[in-house]
Amino acid sequence: MLIDTHAHINFGVFAHNLDEVIKRSLENNTYVINVGSNYETSQKAIEIAEKFNGVWAVIGCHPEHLVEDIEEKVIFEGEEKILKMKKEIFDYNKYLALAKSSPKVIGIGETGLDFFYLKPKKRDVEKAKELEINVFKQFIQLAKEVNLPLVLHCRGEEEKNYEAYDLMLDIVGKWQKANGKLTGVIHCFGGNLEQAKKFIDLGFYIGFTGIVTFKNAKELQNIAKEIPLDKILIETDSPYLAPVPFRGKINEPQYVRFVAEKIAELKNINYEAVEEQTFKNAKALFQI
Ligand SMILES: [Zn+2]
Repeated sequence: MLIDTHAHINFGVFAHNLDEVIKRSLENNTYVINVGSNYETSQKAIEIAEKFNGVWAVIGCHPEHLVEDIEEKVIFEGEEKILKMKKEIFDYNKYLALAKSSPKVIGIGETGLDFFYLKPKKRDVEKAKELEINVFKQFIQLAKEVNLPLVLHCRGEEEKNYEAYDLMLDIVGKWQKANGKLTGVIHCFGGNLEQAKKFIDLGFYIGFTGIVTFKNAKELQNIAKEIPLDKILIETDSPYLAPVPFRGKINEPQYVRFVAEKIAELKNINYEAVEEQTFKNAKALFQI
């Protein structure tokens, strides 16, 4: 059994074939953890999770939705689409109520830092970062309050990715010193090996997407090789980041096995061992 620990089948791109995507996934022995990226998609994630066995929900707000309305150009299967999303004003109590609204809510996120998109535009970057950090800390508080693991997102400005990871380590480390232990996963990990080890020391798992199958992802492949298997989670981040051999296509949860296969290859171990251990890891972290 596999678990795709980070998918967005709640996104509009799956509106026309959601049931089939879930069916394909379950038929291929793959459970799904469906992650909200704002309040609306978090509600949607719960709705879907309540409809299907083997599908769970994580609720939160991706940092890039906090700063402004977003129009994102995405290219799927050669076709350009514009995704439009309204800026969200974070409301702790609304998310608290949502977290308590269903037993299928098994985590808080995605939340964290994303400075990547701030740079090319004219705006007060420092103020935007402050807002992201402030909401991130509130989501940490929420995870503690409802006793659920965190699903973290981290991306720095171009050429400064490691700085964002250091900042996140600092925020999480200080919070734990003051308030006690946290658990979670840092999804779609993009830091360096040293930072991965520090997150593990803080009680976090490291999430790998299809990026690990990309030819140029040498550093990430080395991290997958070096860190212990019992700290690894596998994910798709569907509809994004389809693994080789589906690169550029719409990703879906059933493709998470290509991530598992790549990790087995990198670690020079059996595929079955990766499947079994990452399944155990996800069950342990999300208590499912
Ligand atoms: Zn995501």
